[in-house]
Amino acid sequence: MSSDCLFCKIATGEIPADVVARTDRVVAFRDLNPQAPTHVLVIPVEHFVTVGEAGRDGGDVLAEMATVADEIGNSVDGEGWRWVFNTGKRAGQAVFHVHGHVLAGRDLTWPPG
Ligand code: 5GP
Ligand code: ZN
Repeated sequence: MSSDCLFCKIATGEIPADVVARTDRVVAFRDLNPQAPTHVLVIPVEHFVTVGEAGRDGGDVLAEMATVADEIGNSVDGEGWRWVFNTGKRAGQAVFHVHGHVLAGRDLTWPPG
């Protein structure tokens, strides 16, 4: 746990969130500023800054995040969904605790902006 990290505090319940799924190592909760009808953030409970760090140092936690994301994405409308990791400031990462955005419930354009 990183003491000043917003998503660590959401993972422990210190800061409330609309949690839609939880395992021992992964939490999924609705984004405060949704960009699609379904916009859920999937995070590891353990603090990693980026998806690469979670992949290198997190054992199979990234696979567990993918499994949770898949269940959420598939449960929306069966029309498809997207999983996005903004990595670094230039890509728009604003919270430096890795989170995969599950976006679903509307047509999603490509390429993203
Ligand atoms: P990033 O830009 O880092 O990829 O995504 C951060 C996301 O976290 C944004 O989509 C933003 O709306 C969301 N967010 C920021 N603060 C909070 C919060 O306190 N609660 C929730 N549920 N989402 C948040
Ligand atoms: Zn954290």
